Amino acid sequence: MDGIREELLAITHTADEYNKYLNAVVPPVFLNSLHLYDSFEEYLEAASDPCQEEKFVYGRDQNPTVHILERKIAELEHGAKAIVFASGMGAAAAAIMTTCNAGSHVVCMRDVYQPVKRFLDYFCVPKFGMTVTYVSGNDLDEIESAMKKPDTALMILESPATFVFRVVDLEAIAKLAHQYEVKTYIDNTCMTPLFQKPLDLGIDICMHTMSKYIGGHSDILGGVLVSKDKELMCEMIKTVREWYASVMGPMEAWLAIRGLRTLAVRVEEHQRVGMAVAGWLEKNEKVKKVYYTGLASHPQADLIRRQQKGHTSLMSIELDAAPEEAVKFINRLHLFGKGCSWGGFESLAIMPLYKAEQKELDFLQVNRGLIRLYCGLEGSENLIEDLERAFAGM
Ligand SMILES: *Cc1c(COP(=O)(O)O)cnc(C)c1O
Repeated sequence: MDGIREELLAITHTADEYNKYLNAVVPPVFLNSLHLYDSFEEYLEAASDPCQEEKFVYGRDQNPTVHILERKIAELEHGAKAIVFASGMGAAAAAIMTTCNAGSHVVCMRDVYQPVKRFLDYFCVPKFGMTVTYVSGNDLDEIESAMKKPDTALMILESPATFVFRVVDLEAIAKLAHQYEVKTYIDNTCMTPLFQKPLDLGIDICMHTMSKYIGGHSDILGGVLVSKDKELMCEMIKTVREWYASVMGPMEAWLAIRGLRTLAVRVEEHQRVGMAVAGWLEKNEKVKKVYYTGLASHPQADLIRRQQKGHTSLMSIELDAAPEEAVKFINRLHLFGKGCSWGGFESLAIMPLYKAEQKELDFLQVNRGLIRLYCGLEGSENLIEDLERAFAGM
């Protein structure tokens, strides 16, 4: 794969320390809650520095298996430090709680992962008196007029964003936000650390849920935050994790490390299948529109070429038919299971906006029949055959 030589070494070999683990090629799952020291002084020394990474005290603070995963992700994202969480939402909530105070103002892209919006609207706003301005992310003037000095603490981004895979200019937004001393946060899950490096473009905090491509097998939940600001990570975000304890268990960390080792070959195949399926769908006369970052017809193809090194196997389509017909269409698919999430080996079809409010549909300029397809690892020929059969029934 082009341009990811270093990353291939990080996913396979970073944090290999065979001599620590009886020369085992795979590090053990440290299923222990605490670590013991011969003297009280040694224990105190290990427990007193939140930024030290050599010694372990208690599982809520640090676990050796979890720590291997954190070292790999930090290196992959060009960060100084990564902190792993029990879920992507745990990571997202920790980032918001760390960067904001009671009364803080947040600027948020309108089509970010919906539970993050709900966390802001139904928790942060009523409980902490915070305020939120939703923006498209594509209009720098709109972002600038949303910034309120000194209240705006955080800008929340996602690129490509859920639903229609809109892309925003991360470098330009980071530059603008920093003029207003606003921290920037991005959900980089879609791109994986292989296809997009937000920290190198000036974004402060990068998040991934590991429940998707990184885990890759639909068998774990996990999340991670990573930043070039080590102090922010160790003294603030790590402490927030300790207090509300969204800690990833060692078994999940071990599975995430295992998933990570094959991430490059999996996303390369996902991209191949995604391109083939999206290209085929675009030529189908029953499809009104295909939303996929890999298509030359994507309205932001130039920015995508500049900012991304690759494409996912996630796309959305609108059929030339009523939303009820779209429901029947996805029910006719056999290989695409009807379920949320994505990133595993199995293909999925869902209509994420079926119950959306009209104003959200107007913003995205789509109807509630929008179908999101996730292409798994069943191979493009099998998936296209499945789609062909479902179209034949229309
Ligand atoms: C699934 C998902 C999340 C949430 O992650 P969990 O691990 O399920 O909490 C966040 N962002 C995106 C883009 C997702 O797809």
